[in-house]
Amino acid sequence: MTYKLDAFQDMVEAFKLFPGIGTKTAERMAIFLLKSPLNKTQQFAQTLVTSKTRIRPCLECYLFTEEEICSICQDEKRDRGLICVIEEAKDALMIEKSVSFHGLYHVLMGKLSPLDGVGPENLKVESLLERVRKLKVREVILATGTDVEGEATALYLGELLEEENISVTRIAYGLPVGMGLDYADELTLARALEARRAL
Ligand SMILES: [Zn+2]
Repeated sequence: MTYKLDAFQDMVEAFKLFPGIGTKTAERMAIFLLKSPLNKTQQFAQTLVTSKTRIRPCLECYLFTEEEICSICQDEKRDRGLICVIEEAKDALMIEKSVSFHGLYHVLMGKLSPLDGVGPENLKVESLLERVRKLKVREVILATGTDVEGEATALYLGELLEEENISVTRIAYGLPVGMGLDYADELTLARALEARRAL
């Protein structure tokens, strides 16, 4: 009979659910927990559950927040005439680190992907138009990824926003082609924002 440890295997499989975690790393993490006191593991699991239940999408821009409206939407010093459109809430974390943007965000909650059945009706497009009108926005920066779907999404939004009589710009310069925003470093993102161009 071979040595089997099903519970350990369950832990490894759980860690492998995380992006970028392979079997070897997952095993190291599981072994670390095995060697830790039980209360440390309980604390760890509790922190994940507590944080996860406290975080939800902002009712205005869909960024992560612990309140109804996120701290960026609430901040009176942010430029309300400028909206940066991003695919995922995590993209704002990167842009905020670059400290080169002082407007508001709008999270699309995805990107156009006809092959996966994702059309405009599956994204936060309607609420973007509502916000542009309500806030009397003068510029929308399209900061979707530079991969095929990200470009297609920017193009679609650009055409849609044309009727709103506002400036529509697209970040481009310095971003790695074919990748999501999360692969860029802070400086690259700062330059990409500075060098945005009209669509
Ligand atoms: Zn918000």
